[in-house]
Amino acid sequence: MLKANYHTHTKLCNHAIGMPEDYIKKAIELGFKEIGMSDHAPVPEDFMSHEEYMYNWIHRNMKLNEYYEIYLPSLDDAISKYSKDIKIYRGLETEFIPGHEEYYIGLKANLDYLNLGIHYFLSNGKELNSYDDVNYKTIYDYANIAIKGMETGIFNCLVHPDLFYFQYKDENGNHTFDCHCEKVTRMLVEAAIKNNVYLEVNANGPANSRKYGVNGSDWLYPLKEFWTIAKEYKDLKIVIGADAHNPENLWNQDVADVEAFTKELGLNISNFMEITK
Ligand SMILES: [Zn+2]
Ligand SMILES: [Zn+2]
Repeated sequence: MLKANYHTHTKLCNHAIGMPEDYIKKAIELGFKEIGMSDHAPVPEDFMSHEEYMYNWIHRNMKLNEYYEIYLPSLDDAISKYSKDIKIYRGLETEFIPGHEEYYIGLKANLDYLNLGIHYFLSNGKELNSYDDVNYKTIYDYANIAIKGMETGIFNCLVHPDLFYFQYKDENGNHTFDCHCEKVTRMLVEAAIKNNVYLEVNANGPANSRKYGVNGSDWLYPLKEFWTIAKEYKDLKIVIGADAHNPENLWNQDVADVEAFTKELGLNISNFMEITK
């Protein structure tokens, strides 16, 4: 049973339901000691072309004015109401686009932590999508963006680091965990250790895998091959993230299954994320 969750969305991202208060009340009911809110961050439209913006679904995210006028005040409200019952952290899940470091630092100025989620990545001058566009060549661009992001020191946790495998294609066009996947796994894990960034085992992966027709426990992520390699590294810090888009999903069968998966693999899970500004 989780004692904390640092990957929590709100309806402001337009593909989740509930506001911070709804998740926090549920977390208290579940007996969590800590909760971090980390909705998808606003992204200014001029960070990429309009086509790339739409292709990567970024138009759904909260807008910058909503961040200041709705998201932050709703967090402050919840903190004043519930901080006697649970420790609440203010965060966001952001991407990393090199050259925009100042923007992320500006967002973090009002927050306690940032999750780094690579849903799109710069490859050959184009923003490719991590679900659909990763192959034996572009996988290195995915890794490069994640590592560059971790090296900035801005981010506390790299969420679903194994997302690269979602629709991965090897040299023969097959979906297999090949030598490139292994190499990238090691690159990500080693960068996380070096830069003191947590890696997250994502419990929304089973639901996302089912949407792509993968039933049973051979999820597209969390990926057994990835975490088996990660286990070799004793200094790696790992948390489980519910990636809740609905208060009910702070604890459900998938989260329980993912927790069991980490136990079976013998991963050393941190119950709490150490958050220092
Ligand atoms: Zn989401
Ligand atoms: Zn998320």
